[in-house]
Amino acid sequence: MRWTLACAAALATLIPAYAVSLAGAEEPGEVNIYSYRQPYLIEPLLKEFSDETGIKANVIFAEKGLIERIQAEGRNSPADVLLTTDIGNLSQATASGITQPIESETVADAVPPAYRGENNEWIGLTHRARVVYASKDRVEEDAITYEDLADPKWRGKICIRSGQHPYNVALIASMIAHHGEEKTEEWLRGVKANLARKPAGNDRLQVKGVYAGECDIAIGNTYYMGKMLTDEDHPEQKEWANSVNMLFPNADGRGTHVNVSGAIVAKNAPNKENAVKLVEFLASDKGQEMYADVNSEYPVKEGVPWSKLVQSWGAFKSDPISLNEIAARRKAASELVDKIGFDEGPSS
Ligand code: FE
Repeated sequence: MRWTLACAAALATLIPAYAVSLAGAEEPGEVNIYSYRQPYLIEPLLKEFSDETGIKANVIFAEKGLIERIQAEGRNSPADVLLTTDIGNLSQATASGITQPIESETVADAVPPAYRGENNEWIGLTHRARVVYASKDRVEEDAITYEDLADPKWRGKICIRSGQHPYNVALIASMIAHHGEEKTEEWLRGVKANLARKPAGNDRLQVKGVYAGECDIAIGNTYYMGKMLTDEDHPEQKEWANSVNMLFPNADGRGTHVNVSGAIVAKNAPNKENAVKLVEFLASDKGQEMYADVNSEYPVKEGVPWSKLVQSWGAFKSDPISLNEIAARRKAASELVDKIGFDEGPSS
């Protein structure tokens, strides 16, 4: 394996070496990880993995450009595994030809087919639901559907981030999968008409909008409830969280839309065997529990206990549609957002 100088330097400075190198022929070697997910989520997992296997885990963290980087590095890429969120990134990685099928019975047994690529070229590791955060004071409903969001009774009452954000693109793609493009366009126009303001900011700022009385319902991912309740740097967010109830849409119907975080094994992985071992660890009971717990997400593997906090939100039914179906409609969803000018907000 050849490291560029810059790359080696980056590893030396950024990356703690977790495993003590073992001498001899049995040397377990290393695995190189490119991660869009943040250090506080990934480091405890890698430490556990290295402790268990003796495999040294090297990691580069970045907020963007990692898929392009692996592509540009080509056959000389040191990357073994890419860790990321969202079906958008996972399908982009697959489409850009940087993945290889992950051949592992352990992984196939742990991860339901709806949460992995058709040829296991990506593997979902945790999932999260896209829910409605409803004002405790102003919303009486204790159940809702995504379809309801277009009902004129919500005129001027909905806060949501950009329609082009991957979380919303996937949600809209799921609507297309269930209702077709025409019906979804009508629906999305209805949602746009109900917006309280121009879509902007992240999921947490939508909940803040409810807290501040700008809107009555906000759309956001489940783990942000956990973040708002526990973020020591932003204690004011606890009040935002406490001003809302979480409603899991379509609970009585097809279930709530979910998305994943996941992994791919790079096509030119120099340490392929260790890469597969890492994915197997992340799909194991221990890895699943740790990975889900640290970000208040749901393990993809059946039977792995949810964190206490996540349990407190109650059981829910997730939409069983395969994320491959959603990936196939992302482009149409994104085009629809532009077509109707969703991000221009309610007035135009
Ligand atoms: Fe997020």
